[in-house]
Amino acid sequence: MNSTEKLLEHYHPSENCLNDTIIAVTGAGDGIGRVIAKAYAQYGATVILLGRTVAKLEATYDEIEAAGYKQAAIFVIDFETATESEYQQLADTIDENFGRLDGLLHNAALLGEITSIANYSIASWQRLMTVNVNAPFILTKKCLPLLQKSPQASIIFTGSSVGLKGRAYWGAYAMSKAALENLMQTLADELATTSNIAVNSINPGGTRTQMRASAFPAEDPQKVKPAESLTPLYLYLMDSNNTKANNITGQQFNA
Ligand code: NDP
Repeated sequence: MNSTEKLLEHYHPSENCLNDTIIAVTGAGDGIGRVIAKAYAQYGATVILLGRTVAKLEATYDEIEAAGYKQAAIFVIDFETATESEYQQLADTIDENFGRLDGLLHNAALLGEITSIANYSIASWQRLMTVNVNAPFILTKKCLPLLQKSPQASIIFTGSSVGLKGRAYWGAYAMSKAALENLMQTLADELATTSNIAVNSINPGGTRTQMRASAFPAEDPQKVKPAESLTPLYLYLMDSNNTKANNITGQQFNA
């Protein structure tokens, strides 16, 4: 049994474990973000759906509404082009509507090129760093005052196995995920004794999404686990009862 399985062995979330929480999820219109945003809503959260494609965010919103969960909110933001004032506007909008933020899931990311460092296009490298690294940093920075207003908040970064150990041809993506692990550790260390904010990272592992299909085009998607199977871990780390009771912060989890 690995450490994540041990962590979840006796975890039976109550159906309202995220009641009265406000949780922002980036990349909530597709893949893992879409599934986890719906799961957070199912367990009682008001979810703020962040992403760049309006139609996809609206589809997640509609699914949450159709299921009878708490009404979600949508904020459209493209992390490749967003200016500092757009991030500030996002934080101000959350503040005006909710007055605080209890959870922030950094899920949106680009895969970029699967090619050697020698062949990697500089423009594509920079684009990926903007979306995968700079955006989570700026969004975290702008949302920290809101997270500090929560009685117990949780920030989750999304890692990858190639961010824990580099691998040929995974270039900017691998480096961006390594950078996020370090950002998670630094932030967790800064906040450990000065706040009620837990900061952790999840490596979802191979999961049936568009990104996975792009990275492994020859793979049979049916042989890859669905995003729904990730729900317990994403729920556990967003549920402040667990992070607080077990003092979980600064940790990396493999799903
Ligand atoms: P998807 O490609 O299915 O979804 C990625 C999401 O990020 C989409 O909603 C996408 O929006 C959004 N996004 C991408 N670029 C931007 C941008 N510029 N601005 C705003 N939003 C953006 O990926 P997954 O669901 O597979 O991945 C989710 C996370 O899990 C990622 O961090 C990924 O690195 C990580 N991961 C995934 C694994 C897997 O096997 N699937 C394995 C290990 C880690 P849009 O749909 O509008 O493009």
